[in-house]
Amino acid sequence: MSCIFCRIVAGEIQAEIVAREPAATAFLDVQPLADGHVLVVPRAHVPAIEDMEPGDAEALFRLVHRLAGPTRAAVRAEGSTIGVNNGDATGQTIPHVHVHIVPRWSGDGAGSVHTIFKSGTRRPVAEIGAAIRKALGTSADIQKGLPT
Ligand code: AMP
Ligand code: ZN
Repeated sequence: MSCIFCRIVAGEIQAEIVAREPAATAFLDVQPLADGHVLVVPRAHVPAIEDMEPGDAEALFRLVHRLAGPTRAAVRAEGSTIGVNNGDATGQTIPHVHVHIVPRWSGDGAGSVHTIFKSGTRRPVAEIGAAIRKALGTSADIQKGLPT
């Protein structure tokens, strides 16, 4: 087993574990971007979110939800940036899904998620919406809203 996160989950290498559940584990990032920088990983070794079993994805986000408040409280943060580098093109360095929870304070100098992106869009929003609905196999009727 060469994956460092698989080895942390298995207890083969040391990490500062803060939560352990059957399908997900959380530990502190070894090179924290801020105090309280937590990584939440699924037990299953999969490189990208779309490779995950739905139940594992649910368990992963349940643990993110469980940790968000206590992590923030532990370091008296005012908020957190929660994100996933999903795929090589995003700068993901470890090909085992991991959710970053990074505590934030107003005036900490880090930007919002929006500051990552320098380039604008090229295609109309409605065209992209139609393309995603088609890929999902959903009807354009969902645009109409639910009956009240
Ligand atoms: P990413 O760039 O999204 O793939 O993030 C990988 C993260 O894993 C980085 O923030 C690293 O600091 C962190 N990391 C790498 N090795 C370890 C380790 N042994 N224990 C904890 N965090 C690690
Ligand atoms: Zn792995």
